[in-house]
Amino acid sequence: MKSFYIETFGCQMNVHDSEKVIGTLLAQGYEQVETPEAADLVFYNTCSIRDKAEQKVFHRLQQFKKESGNGKTFAVLGCVAQQEGERIFERAPHVSLVCGSASYNKLPELLVQLETGNRRATGLSLDTDETFETPLTRRDNPNRAYITIIEGCDKSCAYCVVPFTRGPERSRTADSVLREAGELAAAGYSEIQLLGQNVNSYRDPSPAGFDFATLLRKLGDVPGLRRVRFTTSHPRDFGKDIVDAISENPALCNHVHLPVQSGSTHVLSRMQRSYTRDEYMRRIEWMKASPRQIAITTDIIVGFPGETDEDFQQTLDLLDQVEYDSVFSFKYSRRPNTPALRYDDHLPEEEKGRRLAILQERQRQIQIRRNAAYVGRTEEVLVEGFNKATGQWIGRTSQHKTLNFIRPNGSDESLTGRYLDVLVTRSGPNSLVGEAVQ
Ligand code: SAM
Ligand code: SF4
Repeated sequence: MKSFYIETFGCQMNVHDSEKVIGTLLAQGYEQVETPEAADLVFYNTCSIRDKAEQKVFHRLQQFKKESGNGKTFAVLGCVAQQEGERIFERAPHVSLVCGSASYNKLPELLVQLETGNRRATGLSLDTDETFETPLTRRDNPNRAYITIIEGCDKSCAYCVVPFTRGPERSRTADSVLREAGELAAAGYSEIQLLGQNVNSYRDPSPAGFDFATLLRKLGDVPGLRRVRFTTSHPRDFGKDIVDAISENPALCNHVHLPVQSGSTHVLSRMQRSYTRDEYMRRIEWMKASPRQIAITTDIIVGFPGETDEDFQQTLDLLDQVEYDSVFSFKYSRRPNTPALRYDDHLPEEEKGRRLAILQERQRQIQIRRNAAYVGRTEEVLVEGFNKATGQWIGRTSQHKTLNFIRPNGSDESLTGRYLDVLVTRSGPNSLVGEAVQ
């Protein structure tokens, strides 16, 4: 029996792709091991969204270069594989397999090519209308399961590699999504998270033709599912019907991740995001008007080419106006093939760093204020585990806030996987602290 080790970089899409790759390998008779040293096959499932992420992979490959004569096979999967293609063989000659996510269906075939003596195998075609459908998914989290509903991306944001690395947008049929959700609920999962670069661009390819809001409502009604999450939503395709579905069905979590990228309409237009600041704010207003308190989170890029002080100020004003529950913020990073590379007004690294620090501090203050308002409230959490270092249980609210808590005069029985009411007693910028309600 051959053994494999897999390390995953990047987003939840990659984490879930790895779960499917692991399932596929186990079904082929491979055994998973915990270290690259113990493995015959070493897989890196890679990310190329920013330069730093890409560098990490080549660093890892160099670390193990000396192992190449040792009978190990190295494989690069994911976005760096797709982006760099066969150039990886030049940069890291000990790599034998390079395969992008649009070709994972071909993995068993590619492994056979290696086993039968081929020195190299590649899966790099982006010309596909298929999704990676496999019943062979190996899930490690016993409570929350990821479900891909849409793969690839047809948008063309000027800074982004995803359209070049993950292929065209393609949705799974609603039937297969609902079947998987039902099977997961029957297997004891109470929470699912729908995944896609733009989940809300979902369109059922079968004759029923469900849109995203309809799919959400149907998933919210699957018996046994208590929480349905989804990420990421694109503002252009974010309709009020999604907010209405959340307002009406408590199984749909009251959290929306809606990346804005910039608060300046001028920068948004150069980013090719296809919405204005005002259009984005209309979507925020729909959510704020919901009877359920919907937590709103976002992604922001600072220092995009041509971003003036005034543009940056507009992004800071947007933070104050929306009052996000949390923000992922990044310095603009030049990416191969992307239209923004051709702009001639790139900002110096120091200026991007300065703006990032200002933005993060502004947002930290907002989170301190927002989280303080939870003190004294009782929130339902799904218990994710126990932190031995702090002696606290780790809980997650429907709004996706971390709520760590103690169990007053409790037993030693594990609470992981249970839903409990917790009284919030303290707050910080990134989490809440409380006590389980008896
Ligand atoms: N599809 C999602 C959307 O359109 O909002 C985002 C997916 S992308 C994997 C995640 C985040 O990475 C983006 O929202 C953006 O903030 C960030 N990102 C993408 N390309 C970037 C770049 N070249 N430099 C810095 N951040 C980038
Ligand atoms: Fe990248 Fe834009 Fe597609 Fe999101 S919508 S994955 S940012 S190209």
